[in-house]
Amino acid sequence: MKILVVNAGSSSLKYQLFDMTTHEVIAKGNCDRIGVDGELTHALTGKDKIKKKINMPTHAQAVNVLIDTLTNKEYGCISDMSEISAVGHRIVHGGPWLIDSVLVDDKVLADLEKCLDLAPLHTKPHLLGIKGCINAMPGTPQVLVMDTAFHQTMPPEAYTYPIDYDVAQRHNIRRYGFHGTSHRYVSGKALEYLGNPNAKIVTCHLGNGSSISAVKSGKCMDTSMGFTPLEGVIMGSRCGAIDPAVVPFVMEKENIPVEEMGNWMNKKCGFLGVSGISSDLREIEDAVHAGHERATLAYNILAYQIKKYIGSYTAAMNGLDCIVFTAGIGENNMDIRRMSLENMEYFGIKLDLEKNNVRGPKDTIEISAPDSKVKVLIIPTNEELVIASDTMAIVNKTK
Ligand code: AMP
Repeated sequence: MKILVVNAGSSSLKYQLFDMTTHEVIAKGNCDRIGVDGELTHALTGKDKIKKKINMPTHAQAVNVLIDTLTNKEYGCISDMSEISAVGHRIVHGGPWLIDSVLVDDKVLADLEKCLDLAPLHTKPHLLGIKGCINAMPGTPQVLVMDTAFHQTMPPEAYTYPIDYDVAQRHNIRRYGFHGTSHRYVSGKALEYLGNPNAKIVTCHLGNGSSISAVKSGKCMDTSMGFTPLEGVIMGSRCGAIDPAVVPFVMEKENIPVEEMGNWMNKKCGFLGVSGISSDLREIEDAVHAGHERATLAYNILAYQIKKYIGSYTAAMNGLDCIVFTAGIGENNMDIRRMSLENMEYFGIKLDLEKNNVRGPKDTIEISAPDSKVKVLIIPTNEELVIASDTMAIVNKTK
């Protein structure tokens, strides 16, 4: 069975085609600069990447480019789109309406439209991508897999913000959490590795956007991102959690209007804002090693905040069996892993510094010392495989 995974963003449509008998990626690529000029990047596994300028004024046209590419005689991989059994769409925000991965029908599309209010920047391109796929591949099942879904098991004390209850109810304001497919994937892998289905795990998804989750017996108990992906630890250019009073204060002092303040918090803060260098931690890493003071401060903030989340989630779960690091920073940055777990022997956490000295392992590796009570793992995340697997399961169930 072949499953196509689509991730539609505001000006891009990323895709991966999976062979679900082997769980291997056959082809992947990106229709980028939609609505600007259009650029296709495409590669078959094991072959060279191709890059082409192709006009893509809309997401619907990007879907057509994707179909032409996959069926192209020279660099495609299928003869006909009927070879694709289903399409799985990555959805950032399912709101309180879309809770589990689901087959698209009119009711599901109406529920997704309700999310426009909560996450307009993500939901709008998602809808365009889905509708483009429905039009171009009528009869092919379309499945939605939500980034918020895994966090739906949080108890009310974890997801309720202490604001006016009626206002919160009226506007569906609560902690939703994000990166759910990643937290679900790596915590599932960790449970398998530990051989303990009831393990208490803290999963640290540290990338350009970062979130940390407390997972007990495979269920999410709490997570650091909130109503939007802005809450939690310091990120590339996002501020993470700050005193909410800072926001109107900065608006007043810096004369920033409401419509620009979101941009300020999302694009001008985080590593970029603190270091003044970059939102990319690789550049911060180089500057830290060269002795740059503000880069070091950004680094230290991240490590300190990760440590605090691990401590508080250990308290919330009444114990800890395992810490997982994943995503760009979690899988590649040994400094951040080391610094965030330093001086945590009290919690039974002891890193093996030599094993920690690794970038980008291909599969799960253990980096804790043999006598560490808490196991520390690096697990490469694979959100696309989760989306493809959910899509296959739903399609098989409806057969
Ligand atoms: P992601 O959003 O998961 O792609 O992660 C992006 C972040 O991971 C950026 O801050 C990168 O600097 C960092 N990152 C990715 N690859 C590496 C690497 N090989 N070494 C160090 N940092 C990396």
